[in-house]
Amino acid sequence: MSRNELPPKIEVTQMPDVYDKQTRSAVMSKVRSRGNKSTELRLIEIFNEYKIKGWRRNYPVKGHPDFVFLEKRVAVFVDGCFWHGHNCRNTRPKQNEEYWSAKRKRNQDHDKAVTEEFTSRGWIVLRIWECELKKKNTALLREKLGYFFSL
Ligand SMILES: [Zn+2]
Repeated sequence: MSRNELPPKIEVTQMPDVYDKQTRSAVMSKVRSRGNKSTELRLIEIFNEYKIKGWRRNYPVKGHPDFVFLEKRVAVFVDGCFWHGHNCRNTRPKQNEEYWSAKRKRNQDHDKAVTEEFTSRGWIVLRIWECELKKKNTALLREKLGYFFSL
């Protein structure tokens, strides 16, 4: 592309929404995929609380873990329950079920491939569900983290 050339114009077409307004906002409120700032910040809070040190956030490595511990070779992924198909409450919209379940399946397959990629390179993969970050689940999460970080 020459310096003066503009990028091609992108046509934005209005797609009819498959959801009514109410359902749409319910769905969107559950959309929490990876890289979600609030879940990452919450996990940092927890790391600090348990004095877990040595993490790096958004370290540029293939597979994009949310955090890595380079010394321990631990890759941490925070998975949004909706997108990554956690078997917890409110992650199965009734409308468009086939579409969402196909999408979740793709994400899960991808997650699995990424996990295998890391473990094959000698890394430990720690996946944390979004719902595990809730205050009421702190005890369980502490147990899980304890297993990886010998708390
Ligand atoms: Zn969940």
